Amino acid sequence: MNPQRLRNKIADIDGKDYGFYQTLLGTYAFPAFKLLIEQIPKDPYAPSHAGIYKIIVKRNDPLIIDWQIRSKTAEIAFRDFIARLFYKASAAVSGIRRGTGNSGIITINRPGQTVIERNNVIIDKEHIEVRCFIGLPAKGRKINAAAAQKMLLVELPEIVESSLFERYIDIGALKAHIETAEDAEFLRGKLADLALTAFISNGAILPRESGLSDKPLIKDAAIAFQSPKTLETHISLPHCGTISGMGIPKGVTLIVGGGFHGKSTLLEAVAMGIYNHIPGDGREYCVSVPQTVKIRAYSGRSITKTDISPFIQNLPYGKDTKEFSSANASGSTSQAAAIMESVEADAEVLLMDEDTCAANFMIRDDKMRRLVVQKDEPITPYIDRVRQLYTEKGISSILALGGSGDYFAVSDLVIQMRNYRPIDVTERAREIAQRDDSVNPPMREEIFNTNERCPFGESINPLNEYKKKRIIARDIRTISFGRQTIDLSDLEQLIELAQIKAIGYAIDYGKKYMDKKTALKTIVDQILSDINKKGLDVLTKRNSGDFSLFRGIELAAAINRMRGIEMHQTKNLQRDSNLK
Ligand code: ADP
Ligand code: MG
Repeated sequence: MNPQRLRNKIADIDGKDYGFYQTLLGTYAFPAFKLLIEQIPKDPYAPSHAGIYKIIVKRNDPLIIDWQIRSKTAEIAFRDFIARLFYKASAAVSGIRRGTGNSGIITINRPGQTVIERNNVIIDKEHIEVRCFIGLPAKGRKINAAAAQKMLLVELPEIVESSLFERYIDIGALKAHIETAEDAEFLRGKLADLALTAFISNGAILPRESGLSDKPLIKDAAIAFQSPKTLETHISLPHCGTISGMGIPKGVTLIVGGGFHGKSTLLEAVAMGIYNHIPGDGREYCVSVPQTVKIRAYSGRSITKTDISPFIQNLPYGKDTKEFSSANASGSTSQAAAIMESVEADAEVLLMDEDTCAANFMIRDDKMRRLVVQKDEPITPYIDRVRQLYTEKGISSILALGGSGDYFAVSDLVIQMRNYRPIDVTERAREIAQRDDSVNPPMREEIFNTNERCPFGESINPLNEYKKKRIIARDIRTISFGRQTIDLSDLEQLIELAQIKAIGYAIDYGKKYMDKKTALKTIVDQILSDINKKGLDVLTKRNSGDFSLFRGIELAAAINRMRGIEMHQTKNLQRDSNLK
């Protein structure tokens, strides 16, 4: 059908009930693109994913932007760039509500500071497909034909032109977008060879605009990062040449310093180093190994059959900690569970910030150890295990701490932040730890055990009280899943709503692998491998383009936080130490 036909169809339903918009379902051939209307919500208040609208262009059309794509990273960056243009153009052309509910809005998932795999822009050899949200306009619940005609026949083509027509696209910016992502990916790939956990480039801008915004703090207000000489590492990148910065080696690293001197900001940059950032972000060349996990205490979370015994034992009244369950975990048990579950999910680096840790989980000082003997204290603090995690499991720790020098004795590297500048104070910290009057924490002898758990698919139910599937990302930390809410507040490395939504669907999709015999880690790997082969579209039949990729770590973490999930432990899992 041609656009004229669409215009007439809209005119025919003017003033009728919203449901008559269903007559618009179909494919329309505009001069430069095809519009596929595959699903229209039943009312103007429906959530965005209720509609499925696709715009398809041909890559060999001389009007359309194309790019020689050399790598998976380049492909993701190219698609991400188009999504950003589409977002910007649609905000400029039709960012406002015009009528009831979502009337009048054309948009696409809002992209943040990272370049990430999403299913809102898809490419194959011949086509680029953009999936957007269109809020067909209503007055009350009646169709507003004039506004609908303007949206679909004037505004939409304009948005498509600004985001896909070569002549409107800044090719230099596109090239920089792709090359920056490729360089970051290359840099991350280098970390293992160099036995580093993270790299922060000189000149990087780490502080963010505010707690609510992931954008960089304005240039004049921010002190650019500068590595201490002892930690300076030089790496040559495919596009931007050799860069220098601070390499954080494997092992146990402390970030110390006075309050407000930039400890948390540095740790946060390491946490976000799992992602590739957009040009201008300030953290373009700040990377960490892919399995870096930020751990925190989060009391109130649900825990199911997690072995937290390396950290918690001998609870009052003999409550089992080898298979520990709780509907309302305490600060220290939640932190212990988060660590054990991350180890189970193959974490390589654990990040902790004293600001968000349970104090009694991190340390116990000498005086307290003398007063309360070990058998009366259920908690084995992290300081007693941190070296063991590294020597036995190859898991590094990076800890931001201002209050406890006890950790000096168990660390390999101590970085002091002073006025936002890192200083290598390892030698000095070692001297202090070795002084006769300092009492160093005891070492544990028993090995660090972890257990695999196998979830039961039947205990996961995505249906709501009306027996309809309900999986909704309510906000960036909350999934409504069937009749329950999954609280992801402590998963600080999730960055966009589309990830939350995809995780919700991945849980439902993954049920088929949950046969009570397969370990959670294996299931999560299987789901990610399916996504890797077939794209995020594999997670559901109806794709409206609002998924973005997440890590297996976060998917496992979401499953671990579900209330009412059943799992059982199988055998002990002795992970080989992957120390080099
Ligand atoms: P700490 O964890 O040591 O108490 P933070 O990392 O929370 O310190 O930083 C304190 C404040 O300083 C924050 O508001 C942060 O945005 C700001 N800040 C951190 N690093 C820089 C920097 N390099 N330049 C300017 N401001 C910074
Ligand atoms: Mg802090």
